[in-house]
Amino acid sequence: MSKHKPCPFCKHEFSTIYAVEEEFWAVQCFNCHARGPKKSTTDEALKAWNFAALGKLTRKDAEKLVEALENPLEPNEALRKLMKGRL
Ligand SMILES: [Zn+2]
Repeated sequence: MSKHKPCPFCKHEFSTIYAVEEEFWAVQCFNCHARGPKKSTTDEALKAWNFAALGKLTRKDAEKLVEALENPLEPNEALRKLMKGRL
C-alpha cells in the first residue's frame, strides 16, 4: 500500500480512507475534510488522491482536478484544460 501524500487543498499531512455508499472508497483530509475521487478500491482511491496532490496546484485547480478524475468520460480533455498555460 502506498503512502498518502499531503492534502492537495490545505497541505495537511494526515488523511484517511473511508467507505462511501458501501461500494466506493475515498480519501479524506483530517484537517479541511476535502474528499478525493470515489473509487472502487482503496488503492485506486489513494492513487487518485496522490495524483491530485502532485505539483503546486491552487485550491481551485485541485478542485477541478478532483472533478476531472471523477469523470471517466473525458479525463484527458479535462486535464488538458486544467494544465493549459501552466506548463
Ligand atoms: Zn486538507
